[in-house]
Amino acid sequence: MKVIWNNEIVERSEVKIDMEDRGYQFADGIYDVVRAYNGEFFTLNEHVDRLFSSAEKIDLVLPFTKEELKQLLTKLIEVNNIDIGNIYMQLTRGIGIPRNHSYPDPELVPSVFTATTTIVPRDQEKMDRGMSAFTVPDMRWLRCDIKSISLLGNIMAKHEAHKKGGDEAILHRDGVVTECSSSNVWMIKDNTIYTHPDGNLVLPGVTKIMLLKVAREAGLSVKEEAFTIEDLKKADEVFASSTTMEAMPITFIDGNPVGQGKRGSVVERLQQLYVDAVEEQCGK
Ligand code: PLP
Repeated sequence: MKVIWNNEIVERSEVKIDMEDRGYQFADGIYDVVRAYNGEFFTLNEHVDRLFSSAEKIDLVLPFTKEELKQLLTKLIEVNNIDIGNIYMQLTRGIGIPRNHSYPDPELVPSVFTATTTIVPRDQEKMDRGMSAFTVPDMRWLRCDIKSISLLGNIMAKHEAHKKGGDEAILHRDGVVTECSSSNVWMIKDNTIYTHPDGNLVLPGVTKIMLLKVAREAGLSVKEEAFTIEDLKKADEVFASSTTMEAMPITFIDGNPVGQGKRGSVVERLQQLYVDAVEEQCGK
């Protein structure tokens, strides 16, 4: 299995990450995940733009241009023969010796980039059946717009949901729903689709942008407006969106059924619109 390490494609076993890498010591880094279908990237520009934007927000300098990165990623999925799968990329602030909270001079300490691929087919059965979620207080920081590798708040929330037998955690700040632990969250009430607006409290999901676009083009009523846990519990349909899950129905929340406890017709429509958009970019 080949991976990207800084500017090169190498065997995974050749990669050497220093134990004093700031990613390891401080979670001082960012990441992104992009998906390929039929051996072609879907929304690659959007993911690369977000990686660069996350980097800029923390004054992190990438070792290449956007074009160079896209070429490297394209080569990686080719050499690893990725027909359908996920590509994880991560950038850290490199090795700061001695350990010190202050950012080191990027001229002296280069950032460290890695990327790996995993073959993951679409989970159609789960997309038909839906998943269950539990509501958990959002105890993360106030810059959730940065795709930081510092994910303790997210993983602790997901663990809470898992302990109760759920698949995802729906996060809320004082009763206002923000997003899920690793996805954006949406509800449908009286045929209007709602999701939290972008800002510092949620990640600007690439899947969210794509779903907003296809939904609006299809003439569906969409509002980027925050809603509460109370609204959520009275919703007709609820779903989560992410690169790896696409539009995933949430059919049970805190053990209670959403609507009929089955995937609803609006989510099903959005799933199809998303698949159409994928096929338009990546072929059938
Ligand atoms: N929100 C959080 C906290 C996430 O971790 C993710 C994906 O990893 C998303 C939203 C969805 O983002 P995207 O659609 O770009 O995958």
